[in-house]
Amino acid sequence: MESVILIKYGELSTKKDNINFFLRQLKENILFALSDLDASVTYDLGRMFIHTKEHFDEVIKRVKNVFGIHEMNIGYIIASTNFDEIKKEVLSLLKEKEFTTFKVESKRANKKLDTTSIELSRNLGAYLLKNMSGLKVDVKSPEVLVNVEYRLKNTLVYFEKIKGLGGYPVGTLGKGMLMLSGGIDSPVAGYLTMKRGVKIEAIYFESPPHTSMEAKNKVISLARKLALYNNDLILHVVNFTEIQEAIYKNIPHEYLITIMRRMMYRISAILASKRNAKILINGESIGQVASQTLTSMSAINETVSIPVIRPLACFDKLDIIDIAKSIDTYKTSILPFEDCCTIFVPKHPVINPSKEKCHEYEELIPYKDLIYEAIKTHEVKKITAKEDNDEFKDLL
Ligand code: ATP
Ligand code: MG
Repeated sequence: MESVILIKYGELSTKKDNINFFLRQLKENILFALSDLDASVTYDLGRMFIHTKEHFDEVIKRVKNVFGIHEMNIGYIIASTNFDEIKKEVLSLLKEKEFTTFKVESKRANKKLDTTSIELSRNLGAYLLKNMSGLKVDVKSPEVLVNVEYRLKNTLVYFEKIKGLGGYPVGTLGKGMLMLSGGIDSPVAGYLTMKRGVKIEAIYFESPPHTSMEAKNKVISLARKLALYNNDLILHVVNFTEIQEAIYKNIPHEYLITIMRRMMYRISAILASKRNAKILINGESIGQVASQTLTSMSAINETVSIPVIRPLACFDKLDIIDIAKSIDTYKTSILPFEDCCTIFVPKHPVINPSKEKCHEYEELIPYKDLIYEAIKTHEVKKITAKEDNDEFKDLL
């Protein structure tokens, strides 16, 4: 009998035609999460198995961050389909546990069996009652649920369920470019998009010396938290200083943010296309700030033709904060380093910007040259989840 970690796919199993594509990617992502451990992955008949001699706790802790897994179990593969042998093996497994109430649940992947699942459960239940004293069946809330799956060449037994994150394996739905600031919202937007199977790269606009090294390190730290779900993460750091200063000097201040965001969108769209990313992703939420009214979003969005996905468009801030806490980005996001938007915030930003005025004002600066330069000089960093994750340990 071999102990394995059993992976169940949940929502993935609805992908009938291209399930193999999803499973190959899931296997790859699991192996990536375990790359410094000695482990292998196999799959068949709707189940995936991790074979390893490493500590199961450590393996499960890592695999818990892989999208596309509905549930995990510590399972036992009995290399037999003979019911008498199976009964004995299950008994030996249960003898190591302390409990009084139990229930057996059976599944037949081997449809050739002429016994029904209910009969199999009853037979095994009766055998256990006979061979272990003091046991009782409780069908509603048993202390131990004995799951037995009768397969073609072997039999699978498992007890406790460990919940996975769900979603689709990262990489199965292509690539997206996340606009990642140091705030609370954009890391959450990135997380939710990765959960739908989209692999992300991120882009951060910095404005040194108006923004500090700490602000940049904060974004790197957030990128590292996201890398955990993304098999590493490529971060593009774009120097935005000249563009921002040109806007600040030449354009009426109520339009600063609108024009600045139009420039960010343009640069993000160009980098997305260079990197073969099919969407932009950002943390905008309807109504949250002046640049997130519907008129503002429309005036900003017209600069690009790539789809812009806003996973948080309809979320309340408190719900966003709950997710930020659950993925451990919140404490980093609220560190008090200015990002480039907060420094150049005007007293009265326009709430309903006109597109015509945007066009008129943009003629006042050589924005195409500035954008070209910003892209040409941008810095690319590969961020891995495994490096030291304690940039701010004194502050957190
Ligand atoms: P966040 O909490 O994510 O910073 P926010 O509520 O502060 O968002 P804005 O500053 O208006 O809102 O930014 C909206 C979105 O634009 C952000 O969620 C992010 O996706 C993107 N963004 C803003 N600033 C930057 C930046 N410096 N670099 C990259 N993306 C940015
Ligand atoms: Mg922000």
